Formats: sequence, C-alpha cells, structure tokens
Amino acid sequence: FSYQTKAMEILREFEEKCKTSVAKLQQVADDMVIEMRKGLAPDSDSTLKMLISYVSNLPTGDEAGIFYALDLGGTNFRVLRVKLGGGGEVRPEFKEVSIPQSCMTGTCSELFEFITGKLAEFVATEGEDLQIAPGTQQELGFTFSFPVKQTSIDRGTLETWTKGFNIEDALNKDMVVELTKAMEDTGLDMRVAALVNDTVGALAGGKYSNPDVIAAVILGTGTNAAYIERVDAIPKWEGPLPESGEMVINMEWSNFQSPHLPLTEYDESLDASSKYPGKQTFEKMISGMYLGEIVRLVLLKMAQEARFFGDTVPPKLEESSVLTTPDMSAMHHDSTGDLKEVAAILKDKLEISDTSLDMRKVIVDLCEIVATRGARLSAAGVLGILKKLGRDNGNQKSIIAIDGGLFEHYGKFRNALQNALEELLGEEASKNILIEQSIDGSGLGAALLAASNPRLA
Ligand code: ADP
Ligand code: MG
Repeated sequence: FSYQTKAMEILREFEEKCKTSVAKLQQVADDMVIEMRKGLAPDSDSTLKMLISYVSNLPTGDEAGIFYALDLGGTNFRVLRVKLGGGGEVRPEFKEVSIPQSCMTGTCSELFEFITGKLAEFVATEGEDLQIAPGTQQELGFTFSFPVKQTSIDRGTLETWTKGFNIEDALNKDMVVELTKAMEDTGLDMRVAALVNDTVGALAGGKYSNPDVIAAVILGTGTNAAYIERVDAIPKWEGPLPESGEMVINMEWSNFQSPHLPLTEYDESLDASSKYPGKQTFEKMISGMYLGEIVRLVLLKMAQEARFFGDTVPPKLEESSVLTTPDMSAMHHDSTGDLKEVAAILKDKLEISDTSLDMRKVIVDLCEIVATRGARLSAAGVLGILKKLGRDNGNQKSIIAIDGGLFEHYGKFRNALQNALEELLGEEASKNILIEQSIDGSGLGAALLAASNPRLA
C-alpha cells in the first residue's frame, strides 16, 4: 500500500465518474429539450424557468443616438456608453469595477446606490461629441443577470439570487423601479428603457453583428442561455401575439437538472456548503464561480486520505474558494517544462511548497478533468437548444454567440467545448453550426435594446 497509489486511485475514480461520452451528452441534450418544453408550458415544474424576455424584435442596425447600459450580474459591474447610427463598427466605451462583497449581501438600496454612484462618475466623463441637448432624458439599458419575472421589456421583479448574491430585501421588488429611484436620488435624469438578462443582451448584441445568430450562451461567473423561440411554441404566453411571431426566451439553464449529469461526491459536497443547496446544479459543474472549487475539493480529499501533500493537510486547502477558476486555468495552461506556474500558484494560493514534478502533473490532470466535463456539458446544452429548434442537422446556418470571462480566457475550456460540439453534431452538420465569441455583447445588447425600445410618446 502506498499513499501515492491511493492518490492516483482517487484521481482515477473521479475521472471515471466525470466521463461524458457522446451517448451520455446526447441524453443530457434530450433531457434539456424535455425541460425546455415543460418550462414553456403554464404552471410547470421544470428545472428551467424559460423566462419570457418581452424582447420580440431584435436590433436591426437602424438604431441611432447615444445610449447607456449597466451590466450587473456576477463578479464585475460594467457601465457603458455607445453612439449608434454613425455607420461602421460600434465601439462602446466602458468602465469596469468589481463589486464589493458587502454590496452582494447587504441591502437593496446599498447595492443600487453603489451602481448609480459609478454610473454618475461615468456620465461625468462624457466627451464633447457625446453631449446631448440639456434637458433631454438619457436612455439606458439595464443588464441584470438574475432570474427576473418580467411583465414588459422595462418591468421585472427579482425571483431569486444566484452567483453569490444574497440581498433579501430586494426579492420580489421591481429592479427597474429600484434603479430609477436610486438614479433620481443621485441626480441622474435617465430612463430605463430595457431590463434584460445578460444572455438576452448577448443575443441582441450577437444578432446585431450577425443575423444568423439564433442563441447566446453565457460562460462567466455563472452560466445561462437564451434563444429565439416561435411564439406558437410557447403555450404559457398570454396576451397579444407580437408581430414578429417570435420571442426571446431566457432559459435560466444554470438550474438545469438531469439524472444523466455526471455528478460526483465532490459536487455533492460543493452543493451542500453552497448558498443555494439543491439548486443551480448545471452551473455548479460548469461555471467560473465553481470550477476552481471542485479542483480544491478533490485535492483536499487526496491530502486527507492519501497524504498527497505530506503528513499534514495544508491548512489553506481547507478554506473554501481559495483556489479560483483563473488559478486553475493558469495551472492548466502551464507550458513550462517543470510546471513553474503550477508551483507558483500552489505556493501563493495554498501555501504549499516542495511539490515534485509528478505531483504537479497530477494537478494539471485534475484541472483537465474538471474543465473538460464542464465544457462538454456546455456543448450538450447547446445541442439541446439546436434540437429544440430542429436545427441540429445543420440544414440551416446557425450561430451561437458566447460571452463571458470563462469562455474568453480559458482556452482549453473553449477548445473542449468546440470539439465536443463537433463530436456531437458530426462533421457535416458542424459546417453550418458555428460558435462565435461575443466580447461584451451582453452590455452592448442592452444598449441596443434600449435603442430599439423608444419611449411611447
Ligand atoms: P460576470 O459578468 O458574471 O461577472 P465575466 O464574464 O466578467 O463574468 O467573467 C468573469 C469570470 O470569468 C470570473 O468569475 C472567472 O470565473 C472567469 N475567468 C476570468 N478570467 C479567467 C481566466 N483567466 N481563466 C478562467 N476563468 C476566468
Ligand atoms: Mg457578464
């Protein structure tokens, strides 16, 4: 019996449980379709909320004027401004700040004060060419990436928090009303013309630059997807039919569940100590908020049961969230022959020194297992959408816009997703079904939707 053998056993067992064969991913995609259908029916118990976005017309390119957008929904908060109608490429100006932890769990008014404070600072930097006539109310799109029950494009109440946020007194409040109040208090004369989820924004942003975009996926702190559905396929839709006959659906796929998801004891333990046990199962296997944490939990088990780091368990390793997904990604991409980057992160983040090259290789393998599972499950989700729309055969051109820091910065995750999708679709269909990176599409999309939803006056 050797501890080293035991450590390898733990890793191999984890790898086995994380396997995502094509057959398994097909089952996940089929379950996604079933849950999508259920969620589109009235009074459903689907794990997918399939929220109606009230976006039935996506931007056409004819929009003109200066528009602002706020993008709140995870780690970073962005304020942006874009001038439309000048022709050519649109290049929004933006500012990004990280959200203080205290704002994520404090009160509703604290959060909105923080947001409007940053917005006011940004408005003050408006250049000469962007000045609008004094007394004209400015239009703003608000990307708010949490489950919201909308009643129109500019109205919506918060249903639940996700991604580490937990502000109880904001639940069931209309986020547009709260933002508008805070803007008034700050002395900002702006109208919230559109309240959109980041996925819906990314879809609008993606479609603006490419009309073949049919869906958008977010892979950042959290994960989600939105797509264009025919209104006659939405039994729960009430009210007049939109002229376009279409409606953007915000799936809220982060909460997707299926018996075919390859869950392990580490996922169970992550879930049990999370803010929302039993919820957000898909997201907990895929998104940036959780991948590094899964790696930590496996390493912890290897330390405890196989003395992977020596006779004692490194104390830092017992702290939740010490190893972030960017750390994991940096280790995974370490291309130095002796894995210097892995050694540096182990030292900086976990206070572990004196690791052998073999140990560091094991850690890289572990990152590979966790990232690959997440990426392949994301591909299965995309396949689910394509199947629901009858587009998985590749007979029509379909583009999926993907936005978010995980997809943007984690190259091996991105490649694994791309490969899995090709594997699932087959060579022929893959020619017509493409993934397109949409950097900051979610914020730009909100500004575009604000532009295409002018005041009715
Ligand atoms: P959000 O809009 O939800 O704040 P972003 O799209 O800005 O998210 O993405 C931020 C997330 O992306 C981070 O929480 C992190 O998990 C992930 N991320 C950022 N940089 C990297 C990286 N280098 N490698 C892997 N993941 C990253
Ligand atoms: Mg975002």
